[in-house]
Amino acid sequence: MASDKTAPPTTTDAGIRVQSDEHSLTIGRDGPIVLHDHYLLEQMANFNRERIPERQPHAKGSGAFGYFEVTRDVSQYTKAKAFQPGAKSDALVRFSTVAGERGSPDTWRDPRGFSVKMYTEDGNFDMVGNNTPVFFIRDPMKFQHFIRSQKRRADNGLRDHDMQWDFWTLSPESAHQVTILMGDRGIPRTWRHMNGYSSHTYMLVNAKGEKFWVKFHWKTDQGNEFFTQDEADKMAGADGDYHRRDLFNAIRDGDYPSWTLQWQIMPYEEAKKYRINPFDLTKVWPHGDYPPMEVGKLVLDRNPTDFHTEIEQAAFEPNNMVPGIGLSPDKMLLARGFSYADAHRARLGVNYKQIPVNKPKCPVHSYSKDGAMRTENVSDPVYAPNSYGGPAAQPDPNGEAGLWHADGDMVREAYTLREDDDDVSQPRALIREVMDEAARKRLVDNIAGHLSDGVSEHILQRAFEYWRNIDEETGKNVETAVREKLGGKSKAPGLASALSISGGKQAAE
Ligand code: NDP
Repeated sequence: MASDKTAPPTTTDAGIRVQSDEHSLTIGRDGPIVLHDHYLLEQMANFNRERIPERQPHAKGSGAFGYFEVTRDVSQYTKAKAFQPGAKSDALVRFSTVAGERGSPDTWRDPRGFSVKMYTEDGNFDMVGNNTPVFFIRDPMKFQHFIRSQKRRADNGLRDHDMQWDFWTLSPESAHQVTILMGDRGIPRTWRHMNGYSSHTYMLVNAKGEKFWVKFHWKTDQGNEFFTQDEADKMAGADGDYHRRDLFNAIRDGDYPSWTLQWQIMPYEEAKKYRINPFDLTKVWPHGDYPPMEVGKLVLDRNPTDFHTEIEQAAFEPNNMVPGIGLSPDKMLLARGFSYADAHRARLGVNYKQIPVNKPKCPVHSYSKDGAMRTENVSDPVYAPNSYGGPAAQPDPNGEAGLWHADGDMVREAYTLREDDDDVSQPRALIREVMDEAARKRLVDNIAGHLSDGVSEHILQRAFEYWRNIDEETGKNVETAVREKLGGKSKAPGLASALSISGGKQAAE
């Protein structure tokens, strides 16, 4: 084939021109290839190493770049520079499903990841949220087990509704998140048509050192839209990458999606006596108690040009807090402060923050040194304290965010229950007060469809009880619908009596 004389010459990775894109070096036209055909070897070896481990979980996703702009003066709550009046920061957002693998369909029923990275002058601020305001569990000891129950079985490598419902019904704190998951928001129509939530409670600290608790809500400006189960099943077959394609095409066509950031603010002292534990990740703060206030706008207006380097290698981590924003006593959040950075070290290598997409846009003066794939030079002195002008910590005179009073014996116990802490009141309010009749019917259909697919009788019994505890009518309707779908097929004796689940009061695990 004639080579294109206007194209740049192909080179090896060392920049040396190669002789052919088509023919390997052989002894005679029909003879064996030779080992010193370095370009051939380089191509084969590189190809073998192209895939990096996928994220565990949140493997399937995509994202885009844009900006976050503050639209209201919220400086009374935080000194973070990115949240001062008029501040504008470059941003990256990645959306994902949770349980599916890197090639899995976008429209499987699942929560969606909603991760935001803001490149601020205080350093990178990451908010690693979801499209739901709560989560399945409240103690990180259960997280690994939870994810394993949602992924694949050991024996046949298949996903399995039996183990999903087994875990959920043995974990009554999952009721709120499972209700949202089985409702319309369990399959957003596109990533553009869903909200994002910090889910966790965070801390804000203002310039005077005053502290507040906060929940972030990224409200879609496109409106919330969903797929029914049937539409999603069809789409999974027609276009498994539908959400990825939709986001890319919208931005390519200049139809930039945006989200309005709202905060719910709780005064620091109020958290001590609020009627529910405000750090419990399975709960929302009712809007009536803490009305959301507008803070700013997030706009996505630039697609990645290299999916691997800009999206696959993007590393979001909840521990990336800037001055003025901090963690809270939410046990799940505190554990995520370790686990995300550790996952990136395992997947991308210890120097992953030097990959351009993860690199802060402000100066970095850290004492981290060496390690695989370090590209930034390290200079002396390599230790602190030192007498040679190396970086020196400069404590914030107005206090560090994410510090609070803690005192007590070391225990392995559930959170102390407050007056209104239980696992079912909030999902019950969602079903009875927020969903309309049609949404409630879809909820029952979705649950019944899920439960009718490979769930054993004893777990079915527990599932009916689980739903009756949340809402008596929903429980009855689910049981009727499952029995109709199964047509009397599942008649194994139930183990429900031996495997009790908690009733209305929140379980003290
Ligand atoms: P509100 O009536 O003020 O809020 C209800 C919220 O429910 C809406 O604002 C909307 O959240 C959200 N919503 C609407 N449809 C669905 C759905 N199908 N699945 C999940 N969420 C939906 O009441 P409260 O604040 O007192 O909350 C009542 C219940 O609403 C809660 O128990 C919780 O289940 C749910 N909810 C509450 C949120 C909160 O932060 N208070 C957030 C999301 C859900 P949005 O405005 O974020 O779109």
